[in-house]
Amino acid sequence: MKKILFVSSEAHPLIKTGGLADVAGSLPKALIELGQDIRLLIPYYQDLKTTEHIQYRCTIRINNCDVSLLETQLPNSNVTVWMVDYPLFFAISGNPYSDEYGQSRHNNAARFHLFCKVAVEIAMNRTYLDWKPDIVHCNDWQTGLIPALLTLEPHRPKSVFTIHNLAYQGLFPQAEYHNLNLPKQLWHADGLEFFDMLSFIKGGLVYADQITTVSPTYALEIQTTQFGYGLEGLLHHRQASLSGIINGIDTHVWNPNHDPCITQNYGIETLDKKILNKTALQQRLSLPVEANIPIFGIISRLVEQKGIDLILNCLDEMLNMPIQFVLLGSGNNEFEHRLQNLAHLYPQKISVTLAYDETLAHQIEAGVDIFLMPSRFEPCGLNQLYSQRYGTIPVVRTTGGLADTIVDTLPKSIADNTATGIAFHESSSGALIEAIKRAIVLFNHPTTWRNIQQNCMQKDFSWRNSAEQYLNIYNDMTY
Ligand code: ADP
Repeated sequence: MKKILFVSSEAHPLIKTGGLADVAGSLPKALIELGQDIRLLIPYYQDLKTTEHIQYRCTIRINNCDVSLLETQLPNSNVTVWMVDYPLFFAISGNPYSDEYGQSRHNNAARFHLFCKVAVEIAMNRTYLDWKPDIVHCNDWQTGLIPALLTLEPHRPKSVFTIHNLAYQGLFPQAEYHNLNLPKQLWHADGLEFFDMLSFIKGGLVYADQITTVSPTYALEIQTTQFGYGLEGLLHHRQASLSGIINGIDTHVWNPNHDPCITQNYGIETLDKKILNKTALQQRLSLPVEANIPIFGIISRLVEQKGIDLILNCLDEMLNMPIQFVLLGSGNNEFEHRLQNLAHLYPQKISVTLAYDETLAHQIEAGVDIFLMPSRFEPCGLNQLYSQRYGTIPVVRTTGGLADTIVDTLPKSIADNTATGIAFHESSSGALIEAIKRAIVLFNHPTTWRNIQQNCMQKDFSWRNSAEQYLNIYNDMTY
C-alpha cells in the first residue's frame, strides 16, 4: 500500500472549472478502491460546495503567515480532503484563478506559492497531521513548485507531475521570484526560469520524478513545436519519464441508467427511451419537438482551443440543413455575443445557454443525438466519453485524447462493430462541415446509427483501468 498526497487546485464536486476537477474528484476514489492510502489537498475557497463536516486539524507557519489546515471528506466517498485555509488568498468567491473580468488574479503567484509550500510541509511530515506520503502527485501549474522545492529536501517522497493542459503554465515576471523568496539555486534556464519569466509549470516538468499527461497522443504532441509552447525540447529530453494515461470518468455520476438529472433513464437494452430525453430537452430549450431532426450539442468553455470559431463559421451552412443546435458554455465575450445573436435570429434551430449548469449538461448528453468537439488540441477531453456512455455520437477532431478514444465510422469499423464516432483531421470549418454532413447521413440510417450507439455504450471508461496504470507508476518509483 502506498501513501499518496494528491495535490490539486480544484476537485469535483467541491470546486470545478474544468476537467482537472473531474480527475481530482475521481482518481483518488479509484486509488482507494485499489487499496491505497490517499489524501487530497486543495485550497479552501469561499465557494467550496460540501455537505460534509469540516474539522480544524492544525496551524502551520509559512513565510510569517499562519495557515490553518482543515479536514473534510470528498462527498459520497471515503477520500480524506485536507484544505489550506488562508482567507486573504482563498476566501474569495468566483473563479479560483481569475476575477470577474476574466483577468488572472493579481496575486496568483503568491497564492499558489503558499499552496505549494504547505504541500511540501505536509510531504515532509513537518505538520501536526503526522502522515508522511511515499508519493506526492501534483497536477498542473498551480502545484508546479512542489517537485522543485522537494528536490532541496533530504529523504523526500517521490513526485509525479500530471499535465492536464500545457497551455496554462503559471508564468510570472521575474520580480515575483524575488518577492516569493524562492531559492536562488532553482533560477536558471534548466530550472524555473523561462525566457526571464518565472514558470511554475517548469517546476513540475524539470524536477518531478515522473511526468504524466492525460492521453498517449497528447504525450507525443507536447514534444512537438505545434503543441509544446517552447517546452517541447524539455519534454522530449524527459521522454523516458513521460507517459500518457487516458482519464477515466465517474461512472456513477455519468450513468444514463440512474442519472437523476435526466427525464428518462435508459441503458443499452432500453435505448428506445433515449428519445424522451430529446423531447424534454427540446421543450426545456423552447425548440420545436421533432424526433427525426438530429440535434447537435456542445458543452464547453468558449475558448479558441475548443474550435468554437470553427463551429461559428459552420453555423450559416448548418442552418440550411434539417438540424437543431444546442450549446451550453461560457468564456470569450466575442464568441458569447456571436452565439447569442444567432440564437435570437434562429430560435427554431439554435439554443444557446451562457452559463455553467451541471444539470443541463447531463440533460444535453442524454437528449442530443450528436456531440461536437472540433478542438484544436485536447489533452484528454471528457465530454466525448460521457457522450459515448449516453449513446450520443461524438464528432471529434483527431487530436490528443479525442484521437485515442474515438474509432471513426468507416466501412471496416461498421463491419466489425468498433465504430464509435466521426473523426476529422484538418482544423478547418470545411473539414468540420464535411464531418457534420457524414453524421447527418449516418443518422438517417437507423440500423447503422443504433449499432454505433451500442458500440459506444459498451465501452468501459471507468477509472479502474487508468488508476491501475498510475499505481504501476507509483510502484515502479518506490519499489
Ligand atoms: P477542459 O478541462 O479543457 O475544460 P474537459 O473536456 O477535460 O475540458 O472537461 C470539461 C468538463 O467541464 C466536462 O465535465 C464538461 O462537461 C464540463 N463543463 C464545461 N463547461 C460547462 C458548462 N458550461 N456547464 C456545465 N459543465 C461544463
